Amino acid sequence: MLTAYKIYTKLLSAYGPPEWWSDDPFTVIFQAVLVQNTAWENVVMTTEAMGGIPSPGAILAMAEEELQSLIRPCGFFRAKARTIRSLAAWWDGIRGDESSLSTEELRKQLLSIKGVGEETADVILVYALHRPSFIIDAYTRRMFSRFGFQFRSDPEIRSFLDEGLEADAGLYGSYHWLVLEHCKAVCRKKPRCAECGLRTICPSRVQ
Ligand code: SF4
Repeated sequence: MLTAYKIYTKLLSAYGPPEWWSDDPFTVIFQAVLVQNTAWENVVMTTEAMGGIPSPGAILAMAEEELQSLIRPCGFFRAKARTIRSLAAWWDGIRGDESSLSTEELRKQLLSIKGVGEETADVILVYALHRPSFIIDAYTRRMFSRFGFQFRSDPEIRSFLDEGLEADAGLYGSYHWLVLEHCKAVCRKKPRCAECGLRTICPSRVQ
């Protein structure tokens, strides 16, 4: 039987250990908004052109139009600038005290910020705050569906993963990164099964 952990070990042997995101929480928060609906390459290019990520204080001191102009290459720049400013204020307010807040409370606070959906909230929880809150996106849904799981909702996927994995943010972060690598490399909308390192365990493989 395919378990959440077995799939993880197969992904790990196919793609190797993942790179972790930045060690700076606000860098992750900032880039998690920038990457919405755009390619990661645009985020890297924009961040480099900015000469690095401004601190939350610098963001809040900046005119919103200036921030919009800096992040324009990533698209949806007005909405993203507003969300980044809200997150800068949120992070400035809780920084240093975040360890006293439960994961559920942090998630609730993040989801109350306009422009932060479930996926962005979980990216921030895992990669910035090191909380085990699995990131479920289109790639995650596609991969598990191809492995034969018939989940009816994201909460069902979440329960399957939470029950099958140790509650460890490092593991959750690695898993998500490996799912992205796998779905971008071979498990695409039109899958490249002949090149897939997980084909022996996949019931959807195309010969
Ligand atoms: S065998 Fe094909 S469908 Fe299955 S995981 Fe690999 S690429 Fe995806």
